[in-house]
Amino acid sequence: MMKEEKILIIGACGQLGRELTVALMERYGEEAIIACDRLEAGQAKMTQVRYIKADVTNKEQLQTLIENEKVTQIYLLAAMLSASGENAPSMAWHVNMDGLLNVLELSVIYKVQKVFWPSSIAVFGPESPKVSCPQEAFTIPTTVYGISKLSGEYWCRYYYEKFGLDVRSVRYPGLISYKAMPGGGTTDYAVDIFYKAKAGEKFNCFLKADTALPMMYMDDAIRATLELMEIPSANISIRTSYNLAAVSFTPSELAQEIKKVMPGFQISYQPDFRQQIAESWPSSINDKVAKDDWGWIPRYSRREIVTEMLKNVKIDI
Ligand code: NAD
Repeated sequence: MMKEEKILIIGACGQLGRELTVALMERYGEEAIIACDRLEAGQAKMTQVRYIKADVTNKEQLQTLIENEKVTQIYLLAAMLSASGENAPSMAWHVNMDGLLNVLELSVIYKVQKVFWPSSIAVFGPESPKVSCPQEAFTIPTTVYGISKLSGEYWCRYYYEKFGLDVRSVRYPGLISYKAMPGGGTTDYAVDIFYKAKAGEKFNCFLKADTALPMMYMDDAIRATLELMEIPSANISIRTSYNLAAVSFTPSELAQEIKKVMPGFQISYQPDFRQQIAESWPSSINDKVAKDDWGWIPRYSRREIVTEMLKNVKIDI
């Protein structure tokens, strides 16, 4: 018989959280899920599962929640992303690091069985290989976000080795989705572009035309997460965070793909501070270890992503 799970999703109202919450609800049932975020319930609009407002940096609040609800799994998604992080570095460090340490510490105390915490391709830096960047490449991140993710990876491994806490992690590339807006990352252009295309407007891109970055459609990201969380612990060889890849493209290549469907679509380029962040990251990722350890295979090509996004993005008229 399957053990009764109580799954706490922290940061459930974000781009990833909204979809992962639904996927976990479909997998484990509505009763098993508690969605939490720092937003008031009215703003959170979390109708399908129970919602509790909590701040991950507030350890007492988190402790009460984990203890009272007898939580068995935690998905920690609350974070400040790469672009927002550069605008508020100490706040980004506080949310990303203190939030993670609170979760790791409380998970050991309350015997939480599994923790998922996402890292990012932002752990890589200018010294890392640009093309097909391998799992164990040099990591010298240049953003506060990247520094927090790299440190977080080491903390996860430390808690696994020292306390046997089953923490699992992937380094997501830029995530592309239409159900929730992205929350301040350097790859957000690859979502914003579809809203402009659907509105029949010209898109002004904040990256240069030829800046290639690793990207992934949200359905692939959700499936990768569920697959990783369900494989036997013994199969996991990486306790920092797995490289994970799907597609890589430039803004110009993405625009070309959109133009095949919408020939009138126009794009211009006005790089801002995010260009420098993008240039510090690899343009593609080698995820051989994820493939070997749990048979990871992405399903969505660039063309399929464009088809899905143009079909599903809804604009307010
Ligand atoms: P997001 O910004 O869309 O969502 C983050 C959520 O966390 C928001 O709903 C926010 O209200 C909440 N939050 C922020 N501070 C909080 C706090 N102190 N307490 C409780 N909740 C808080 O981010 P996302 O895109 O959904 O990313 C989720 C995770 O995936 C993050 O760890 C991020 O670093 C990682 N990731 C995302 C991407 C991407 O492209 N979206 C890429 C790589 C890694």
